[in-house]
Amino acid sequence: MKRVLAFDIDQTLNVAKTPIPTEIAELLVRCLNHFEICPISGQKFEQFLVQIVDPLKAAGVTEQQLTHLHLFVAQGTQYYRFDADQHDWQQVYNYPLKPEDVERITKTLEQAARELGYWEADQLAAGDEIIENRLSQVTFSALGQKAGTEAKYAWDPDHQKREAIVARCRELLPDFLYEIGGTTSINVATPGMNKQFGMTHLLAELQVEKSDVLYFGDMTQPGGNDYPVVEMGFETITVRSHEDTAYALRGILGVL
Ligand SMILES: [Mg+2]
Repeated sequence: MKRVLAFDIDQTLNVAKTPIPTEIAELLVRCLNHFEICPISGQKFEQFLVQIVDPLKAAGVTEQQLTHLHLFVAQGTQYYRFDADQHDWQQVYNYPLKPEDVERITKTLEQAARELGYWEADQLAAGDEIIENRLSQVTFSALGQKAGTEAKYAWDPDHQKREAIVARCRELLPDFLYEIGGTTSINVATPGMNKQFGMTHLLAELQVEKSDVLYFGDMTQPGGNDYPVVEMGFETITVRSHEDTAYALRGILGVL
């Protein structure tokens, strides 16, 4: 019997960048009665609140249940848990990038995207940005954060644009870790600061063994941002979308 269900977010629990659907929220609320639930993704903390916590609240989650929800933010380089006494989220740890590294990564991403003709600044919504400092990683989102889902899906469905950007970045600035995630994103971090880092800390923080954990992700292929979890030897379910995840969760809840 697993004790922990860990999830990638974008395209595993939701349509990329959007809140989790009601069905997933209701299933997760039920799962919180039986498992520690650990979303782990490149998103910022505020995005976790919008995408995960708010829909759970709408689905009737209790504060007691929230104490079993563990937010592994920015690929698990930050960890938040719910403090029922304070009625709020507390940061347990944070491993930020050095400011000079943020600057080098930002410059490199922009240069590579410009050289290849994939710098889409003219398509950005007002106030939006392509490159975002997420403290523990720098994230390139080709069309910004606010672009529509359809436009994002259409931009690089076969990953070729992002693979080209990553290849050029590796020439310009080899000492960092580049990962393709979501629909238009590239995450850059220092080596070891990927989901492997997050999952290692998850085991320590929750005091569980690898075999206690079941992981769900959509990018489990080599080079994908869920692959480090596979490589570590976690039992993994590869999903194509949140519909697959819902199907699996119904099965898990059905046999409890
Ligand atoms: Mg994903």
